[in-house]
Amino acid sequence: MKITPQQGLSKITPYVAGKPIRELKQEFGFEHVIKLASNENPIGVSSKVINAIKNTVEQINVYPDSHSQELRLALSKHYELDVEQIALGNGADDLICQILMAYTDTDDEVLTSYSSFPVYDIYSHVMRAKLVKTPLTQDYSVNLPALLEHITEKTKIIFICNPNNPTGTVVNETEVNDFIKRIPPHILVVFDEAYAEMVATDAFPNTLNYIKEGWENVMMLRTFSKVYGMAGIRLGYGFGHKNVLEPLLRVKAPFSVNLLAQAAGIAALEDQAFMHRSVKLNRQGREQLYQGFSNLGLEYVESHTNFILVGFGTTASSIHQALLSKGIIVRPCAAYGLPEFLRISIGTHEQNKQLFKLLKSILER
Ligand SMILES: *Cc1c(COP(=O)(O)O)cnc(C)c1O
Repeated sequence: MKITPQQGLSKITPYVAGKPIRELKQEFGFEHVIKLASNENPIGVSSKVINAIKNTVEQINVYPDSHSQELRLALSKHYELDVEQIALGNGADDLICQILMAYTDTDDEVLTSYSSFPVYDIYSHVMRAKLVKTPLTQDYSVNLPALLEHITEKTKIIFICNPNNPTGTVVNETEVNDFIKRIPPHILVVFDEAYAEMVATDAFPNTLNYIKEGWENVMMLRTFSKVYGMAGIRLGYGFGHKNVLEPLLRVKAPFSVNLLAQAAGIAALEDQAFMHRSVKLNRQGREQLYQGFSNLGLEYVESHTNFILVGFGTTASSIHQALLSKGIIVRPCAAYGLPEFLRISIGTHEQNKQLFKLLKSILER
């Protein structure tokens, strides 16, 4: 006799995070490692956030506010929404989990795209929902018409990662407006906009308007992990109609957003200058990487995020290993169904230079 996990688990491919710097240091004895694997913010985090955490840390003997009222109030002011239209999680990952826990029954269908964020898959399987995936378009974008074609009477939730991770592409406003009009009201559409601040086109949809207009079947997710540089503290937020969010409040872990994260989130919102600086440096880094990849004759997908999908053909895996063996961590994409690509996060100017120096010598061999 042994204890068997619930059936959904047999379908889960464990999430593989970017290789930790510590691991590579230990493996190869490096002193310096450059990690361009997890879309972390290369300029760090606002000093105001650090101070807020320091000023709060002595209070960690008390439970945090389970409603995160102050932080939700700050977000509601920032985005001009009601407090009831804001949900929080221990990272946007946690909100994805909350949504699936609140809405999916066994055998409901969760619809999403191939080569997208793997966390949708994990919690869909946990809930024993049926995961349905559609292929990307030829230019590596999420294919909205294909999603529409796969809607059935069992479809419950559609996840649209926009910009899409790991391809960096966006679906535009016209496409999204056209799409959303065709969605039956009993299906919840979740736009995961973890990189929205970094998008490089005016054609990006303003999904906040759906929330403001009171749509009951649209949600939008954001995070403090990327542009605010707070991946380690775990804080994500989401917008939706209060009726849509109410079931999330019932399933969420009561204290999922910790005391330090709540203080950090408020401070981060107050330092918009840091956010704008992140965006600006990300744009510059993006141009630097485009130029570098072009110089090396490498094909890449134009990105609206802080990472770039780069094509290496059949050598992707060996290039990944060669980079690792010299102290640079990037993300292989075989698990995303894109084995010929590496996803490379945009680093500081200096890190990007190091990357090209090394790539050049590897490719010349
Ligand atoms: C990074 C990322 C998230 C998760 O963000 P956390 O708030 O760190 O959990 C969600 N969705 C996408 C597409 C991401 O790339």
